[in-house]
Amino acid sequence: MGKIFENVKRILSELPEGVELEAAAKTRGADEIKEAIDAGVRIVGENYLQDAEKVFPYIGKIVRWHYIGRLQKRKVKKIVEMFDMIETVDSVEIAEEINKRAKQYGKIMPVLIEVNSGKEPQKSGIMPEECVHFIREIAEYEHIRVMGLMTMGPLVKSPEDIRPYFKLTKEIFDKIKELSIGNVEMKYLSMGMSDSYKIAIQEGANLVRIGTLIFGPRK
Ligand SMILES: *Cc1c(COP(=O)(O)O)cnc(C)c1O
Repeated sequence: MGKIFENVKRILSELPEGVELEAAAKTRGADEIKEAIDAGVRIVGENYLQDAEKVFPYIGKIVRWHYIGRLQKRKVKKIVEMFDMIETVDSVEIAEEINKRAKQYGKIMPVLIEVNSGKEPQKSGIMPEECVHFIREIAEYEHIRVMGLMTMGPLVKSPEDIRPYFKLTKEIFDKIKELSIGNVEMKYLSMGMSDSYKIAIQEGANLVRIGTLIFGPRK
């Protein structure tokens, strides 16, 4: 058994029930991703369309593909075609494009809204205080289904420092859930990476995106 296989088995055995593992696969080859799938990974996250296009032919639809990178309008068409969920929706313009392309494919695209939980001006994501308004707007699109929230959180010195940002995102998640907005199903809260997923789970994440801990350091 390879290292990747062992890593996935260990992480899966430690995850509480109801928390799903997403393998964050940027820069990894098809063989590495396959090993993770053999060990039980059911969701693969990709940041770049080009990366996904390289490995997709070797793996196909045996897993669910999540898009977790920045969205460029001109790439939305292909992303909508290939992926099962887009986790990084953070503008009306992009949402409109997703809706348009999903309609063409006769598909209803599940999406998460990315929250800029650190309120960093240069970072992607919707500002916390604007999430409700944004989701009400997006909910109007018939070929998009809002399924929850995703956040990265700011870069911090020690993993524990990210806790307040996860807490804030969970508060927004609960608030929106309570509003019971039509066409919005608050099911997934995607937070936590290799160094922070345990904290994220404590704060309510049910989807954790793990790269390094599965595949080893990126070259
Ligand atoms: C790379 C990446 C991850 C995983 O990061 P690791 O620290 O390698 O676990 C999670 N989410 C996103 C959006 C990423 O780009």
